[in-house]
Amino acid sequence: PDVIAVVPAAGIGSRMQAECPKQYLRIGHKTILEHAVDCVLQHPWVSKAIIAISPADQWFKHLPLASHPQIEVVCGGGQRADSVLAGLNAAGNAGWALVHDAARPCLHPDDLNRLLALTQTSQVGGILAAPVRDTMKRAEPGQQVIAHTVERQALWHALTPQLFPLELLRNSLQRALREGAAITDEASALEYCGYHPELVDGRADNIKVTRPEDLSLAAFYLSRLTP
Ligand code: C5P
Repeated sequence: PDVIAVVPAAGIGSRMQAECPKQYLRIGHKTILEHAVDCVLQHPWVSKAIIAISPADQWFKHLPLASHPQIEVVCGGGQRADSVLAGLNAAGNAGWALVHDAARPCLHPDDLNRLLALTQTSQVGGILAAPVRDTMKRAEPGQQVIAHTVERQALWHALTPQLFPLELLRNSLQRALREGAAITDEASALEYCGYHPELVDGRADNIKVTRPEDLSLAAFYLSRLTP
């Protein structure tokens, strides 16, 4: 199957309190973005990665990635979904789109393999996800008081990569954006359009680097990944 990777990297990472967006922070001798992109490009089915960056980006052009033959760069948008859509619009007519956060450097190749296997069995696609371990509480809106405990057996953390037939994802994102639906990942756009993407068991150490303390955690997980 022909799979195009789209990597939204146009966020500013304000929660990180760093001097550059979090995807450009280094772990070892590579940036977080390079760790994330290298892992998806290692798979033989992934022919190309399209990276969406901010129009104000001053960092990408200095990376070796900028002249990588399998990399294309597009201008991202105001929301993550706009950035992903910009990437998809540059993806031609590939069969499948694999969307992976620039801020997730610890993707394990086994997880990527299991997700990509969906191209052989699914019409709708799916996402890597990890079962919730903590007991989950719902609060009354606007209050810090427990309303009730949520049944955690049925709850999953949505991770990336997320994998969908390219046209289905493009159409779903366009419609969800046009109709103002609240979408925080690609799967939610498909759900909004009535589809039920699959959940593929993923490792919980595929973290999204969000806060300063996540950096050393990601460095530790990466040290176990790379021999
Ligand atoms: O902010 P958050 O961690 O949820 O962002 C997830 C991913 O989406 C990051 O890789 C970020 O760079 C990207 N993003 C984007 N365009 C935006 C906002 C976020 O590409 N407008």
